[in-house]
Amino acid sequence: MTSPKSAAVVVLVRTQPELEVFWMRRSPQMVFQGGYHAFPGGQLDPNEDARVCAARELQEETGVTVDPSTLIDVGRWMTPAFVPRRFDTCFFLAQCPDGENPRITSGEHDLGEWIRPADAVAKWQEGRILMAPPVLHGLKCLAEGLDDIEERMKASPWASGEPILAGELRAGILLVPVRTPTLPPATHTNCYVIGGDEVIVVDPASPYEDQQEMLDRVLDNRKIREIWLTHLHQDHIGGAMHLKKERNVKIAAHPITKRGLEGIVEVDRTFAQNERVELSGNPGWILNVLHTPGHARGHVCIFEEKNGSLILGDLMAGFGTIVIDPPEGHMATYFDSLRRMQALDVTALFPAHGPVMANPKEKIQKYLDHRMERERKILAAWQQGRRSAAEIVEEVYTDVPPAMYGVAERSVAAHLEKLREEGRI
Ligand SMILES: [Zn+2]
Ligand SMILES: [Zn+2]
Repeated sequence: MTSPKSAAVVVLVRTQPELEVFWMRRSPQMVFQGGYHAFPGGQLDPNEDARVCAARELQEETGVTVDPSTLIDVGRWMTPAFVPRRFDTCFFLAQCPDGENPRITSGEHDLGEWIRPADAVAKWQEGRILMAPPVLHGLKCLAEGLDDIEERMKASPWASGEPILAGELRAGILLVPVRTPTLPPATHTNCYVIGGDEVIVVDPASPYEDQQEMLDRVLDNRKIREIWLTHLHQDHIGGAMHLKKERNVKIAAHPITKRGLEGIVEVDRTFAQNERVELSGNPGWILNVLHTPGHARGHVCIFEEKNGSLILGDLMAGFGTIVIDPPEGHMATYFDSLRRMQALDVTALFPAHGPVMANPKEKIQKYLDHRMERERKILAAWQQGRRSAAEIVEEVYTDVPPAMYGVAERSVAAHLEKLREEGRI
């Protein structure tokens, strides 16, 4: 894991005619938090002071000039360990100087506007936008006014550089990354806690005691309706039995997953076909359990139909790759599952590995295009007489480190199976 990069952010406010904050939406093509609502800011140049960086970034991204010495330190946040790009970010509060008017001045953003902090929080609560935990925390503090703002913003346990344990990127969808024995480069699996008064816990994944205890602490005394498993892989189920016993709750999974987990996890209930579950609270959630085979035969995704959040399981990952390993994996049904998910009114993707993604339709298309491109190359290699998966991997997977060749061979086998089924080889 690389060491975190230093960054600085400016929470720009004005008090006339009323308290407002300037927020921006990061352009969809940005690698880090593309499509998220955030504050202006960026990475420190070598040997640059955090305040100087904050003022410079504000100037570059909004055209507003502030004196770095007037910036108020309101905390320091660290991105969680599971995110491939790690940042150690200083947050500063600044009053917008009279006569200055922020606007979008770089391609890094596609929206920038003044908003009342309470309205920003309300938009998040409606479930339509994505925000990282420190941005939400800052807005919630500002929604209560500017009195003691410095103290209140620093009061979060994570505002002093402690790694974030959980983040509610969208209202009612809490992401809790837990360390698991998963496939590199991933090191963690995202467990999702969905709902308000009563929650569903999706993939309590970690077999490690410290991680199970951490999840117990995050869940605290919230009422758990059920544990749901997306599929049978070991990096998704390791904490299920612990949580079931600890909280006396039931585990639900697809019938195929239940069968596959016999003797490993006691699944109490199987999902009905097109199961739909309503959860009360603000704004309330309606969950659809969708059978999405391809990565695993009993794989399900969970679609929240009110705000369009799709809990992916291992259908896609925020980084790294998804392994299609026959006979459990099946390439043609995997393609079909991706296309079915793309056709939904989906607004954000919540993977089991890596960060939450905005711009879902494009992201799914990229996945499909990438696989099609691989398949085209595999077919070409086949037509040139390459027959073994190992030979084809060497020819086609030139962008993949040799350590991953074993996994790539399984994917080649899956592609060849699909080509055979389609009568193309
Ligand atoms: Zn998996
Ligand atoms: Zn996984």
